[in-house]
Amino acid sequence: RMAKNQLPSYNGLERYQLLEKIGDGAFSIVYEAIDTQTNENVAVKVVDQRKLKKDQKAGILKEIRIMQTIKHPSIVRMLAYHETATHFFLILELCKGGELFNQIVKLTYFSEDLTRHCIRQVAEGLRYLHEDCGVVHRDIKPENLLYDPIPIMERTQPAPPLPDFDDETKMDEGAFVEGVGGGGIGKVKIADFGLSKIVWNNSTMTPCGTIGYTAPEIVKDQRYSKSVDMWALGCVLYTMLCGFPPFFDEDITDLTQKVAKGQYEFLSPWWDVVSDSVKDLIIHTLCMNPRKRYTIDQFLKHPWMQQKAESISTTT
Ligand code: ADP
Ligand code: MG
Repeated sequence: RMAKNQLPSYNGLERYQLLEKIGDGAFSIVYEAIDTQTNENVAVKVVDQRKLKKDQKAGILKEIRIMQTIKHPSIVRMLAYHETATHFFLILELCKGGELFNQIVKLTYFSEDLTRHCIRQVAEGLRYLHEDCGVVHRDIKPENLLYDPIPIMERTQPAPPLPDFDDETKMDEGAFVEGVGGGGIGKVKIADFGLSKIVWNNSTMTPCGTIGYTAPEIVKDQRYSKSVDMWALGCVLYTMLCGFPPFFDEDITDLTQKVAKGQYEFLSPWWDVVSDSVKDLIIHTLCMNPRKRYTIDQFLKHPWMQQKAESISTTT
């Protein structure tokens, strides 16, 4: 297409043939590309070093090091990393469906089964980050959750058993879940790792850089920073089920007030048909007090998360 002619060529990136631009950010451009050595399609995130301040640059390098150690089916894998005098290149596994955000917009809202199918995978990824890696994402939102599409037509076919998301190989073949096939969503993965921390530094509650004047309860209490991701997870869960976020206002000052007060509700009529069980999960996740807020383990153990897709379709 036309865009092909407009693709730049980067020194040091000869191995990857850029196909099209698939994402845009403040400091980065993301392309779909072909790895000419493996013939596989990948995503290449290009960061222009020259647009970064010194501390931003150091932060990105630190986060790239973290990303190199992270390996989980629900987290976008970094396959390789290249660096030139002017650019950073993050070679990422490609999520063909793009942002989960777009699928919410397309379907207006998700069924409880489809929501569980998606949020469980995100939660498994978060559990791995929080509990196994001691890493906090800090920018969980539908734009940073990517997915692999599955054909909608599978909806009419008989459903195989529920996939076991602990097992990567099973997940590959069992991406289609009963009552969920119509959603067109297979695997869901957390993306935008770490880079966002630099951009969003001022709005997070975690110390970056100068810890010298930070209160001990913030430095010590790891749960406090993890609970930031849990709040975001609750917001994503809410949004999937109704198609709009729990906190919204055209006016930024009013929106800030609503968030500060934790002021949200299950608006009628949209929420009338949603089960009390998932509302209970949302209430415990969108809990004002970060110490009482559900941890990722409590989230995953909630009865609604444990429900099978079948039992829901027969009880509602
Ligand atoms: P930024 O820090 O600029 O937000 P992201 O990592 O979130 O960078 O990438 C920006 C956008 O590019 C994403 O929202 C998504 O639409 C697309 N994108 C990023 N990584 C991938 C990937 N691995 N597969 C498919 N699309 C991707
Ligand atoms: Mg992003």
